[in-house]
Amino acid sequence: MSAETGTAAHRQQMVSEIRRLEQASARPSEPLDLRVLDVMSRVPREAFVRHANAGEAYINAPLAIGFGQTISQPFIVALMTSLARIAPNHRVLEIGTGSGYQTAILAALTGHVFSIERVAGLSVKAAEALRAQGIRNATLDIRDGHAGWPEHAPYDAIVVTAAPAEVPPALIDQLAPQGRLVIPVGRDEQMLTLIERRADGEVTRKEILPVRFVPLVR
Ligand code: SAH
Repeated sequence: MSAETGTAAHRQQMVSEIRRLEQASARPSEPLDLRVLDVMSRVPREAFVRHANAGEAYINAPLAIGFGQTISQPFIVALMTSLARIAPNHRVLEIGTGSGYQTAILAALTGHVFSIERVAGLSVKAAEALRAQGIRNATLDIRDGHAGWPEHAPYDAIVVTAAPAEVPPALIDQLAPQGRLVIPVGRDEQMLTLIERRADGEVTRKEILPVRFVPLVR
């Protein structure tokens, strides 16, 4: 078996495992988006993970990406991306670029992704990995995620991959009508939270699942 079919097979296994976990969870929420699973079966996760072989890259576990940070487990990437309900014409903001893996998934689903990261070294490596994959519709910058990225707002979806103690108000401000913010919230115990700005402007909030993320650092 060539290296290429090897990683493709590993990705299929990863997606099967994500679906198994979805069935096993009693979460009374919307089903995972099939377009998200399709994209995850094609984006090479190993290209965003340091020194990992294909086997390690596709197990359903968080992995170290350097600078004390981790790439989320595939099930959580699938869940958060599904909850963001990305459409092809959306403008998307990601907070916590990290390895760039989640950025690559978002970029495959929509027109343009803006992604911000606090650690310059991670942002530079993520930019290289995205370029190597031929992904050109993602713009990265080094900034504090608490403030969002007002210059490109409003966003149809905001995906936050590090946990603040409270939802930063700037992120809600930068949501377009019918925009969705998917964010882990809490200090020690964190709750994956879906915040939606309805068409009439009202903001709703729903708790999805207890999760563990690195903190959104001030
Ligand atoms: N989406 C990433 C996961 C990265 S982990 C991936 O797919 O690999 C979360 C990231 O959030 C880390 O890289 C961390 O450095 C970053 N981060 C933490 N606090 C931040 C802040 N205040 N602003 C921007 N990024 C932050």
